Amino acid sequence: MNNFAYVRANSVEDAVSRASQDSNVMYIAGGTNLVDRMKGFLDEPSQLVDVSRLAMKKIERTQEGGLKIGALVTNTDLAGCAEVRSNYPMLSRSILAGASQQIRNMATVGGNLMQRTRCPYYYDTAFACNKRQPNTGCPAATGINRTHAILGASESCVAVNPSDMCVALAALDAEVKVRGVAGERQIPFVDFHRLPGNTPNRDTNLEPGELITAVILPPVSFAKSGVYLKLRDRASYAFALISVAAALELSGEQIKNARVALGGVAHKPWRATEAEEFLKGKRADKSTFSQAAEIALKDAKPLAHNQFKVKLSKRAISRALSVSARGGGVV
Ligand code: SF4
Repeated sequence: MNNFAYVRANSVEDAVSRASQDSNVMYIAGGTNLVDRMKGFLDEPSQLVDVSRLAMKKIERTQEGGLKIGALVTNTDLAGCAEVRSNYPMLSRSILAGASQQIRNMATVGGNLMQRTRCPYYYDTAFACNKRQPNTGCPAATGINRTHAILGASESCVAVNPSDMCVALAALDAEVKVRGVAGERQIPFVDFHRLPGNTPNRDTNLEPGELITAVILPPVSFAKSGVYLKLRDRASYAFALISVAAALELSGEQIKNARVALGGVAHKPWRATEAEEFLKGKRADKSTFSQAAEIALKDAKPLAHNQFKVKLSKRAISRALSVSARGGGVV
């Protein structure tokens, strides 16, 4: 870990002003990913601006009937919030599927959005890595790539976003509220994270110095049927090989509306919009769900060691949709 200055911000404006003066200043809240990265010399900030005591810890009802979730709400508090458990169960379950209780107690909503890939080559400085150091190479593309991307990857990077919570937020059409020196703006969740392209060093569309202040959840009438299915190598404390956040709105046996998002498959939470469109108006049965899964994976480009993810994703989508069609619950 390098030597760095530490300062505690006393307001959002103070934090933004400090971070905007130097591109090597970083925000810290729970620190559950950043501190590991600093210990491994992946991030070497000149200064850490501690935002953990700022007033962004509330979950509030919005006028529209959704929720405003402060960026410093812990993963534990969000997963346990009665309104989230009742109205957005896929969000609560996605959080509980991730990390450990101790980490969820420390980790914040804003930090969850900012966590970086767990690609092993990225964390091992003995290897080159375009995400760590642009234009040095991507050893994962031809190396051990069992856990890597099957959708939206580039020659520069085949890493996946590791978050569970973000998959549910993508499916729920969340928006991210951010504050920078130029003022406040709201970013649709699907536009918050980036595909790697030739700039895999950039994970998000945040401008330098911008601070996440809240996540806005719109009201989604059928979110109560939402499910989160996570498939991984061991039953707990493991990142997703594949995950699916899905919700269906039914009129009798006909699908009126659908949401499908995938985790563990791409550099960002992957919203399967074509599959969602296909589902609308169709009968909610096994055949429809299988066809939707085929559409969701039609552009998949597996690597040498992760062809299994294509089949696994299709089966996971079908399973998640089947459970949602029955009203939701544990998958
Ligand atoms: Fe680095 Fe991305 Fe390649 Fe992993 S997949 S080694 S993060 S460039």
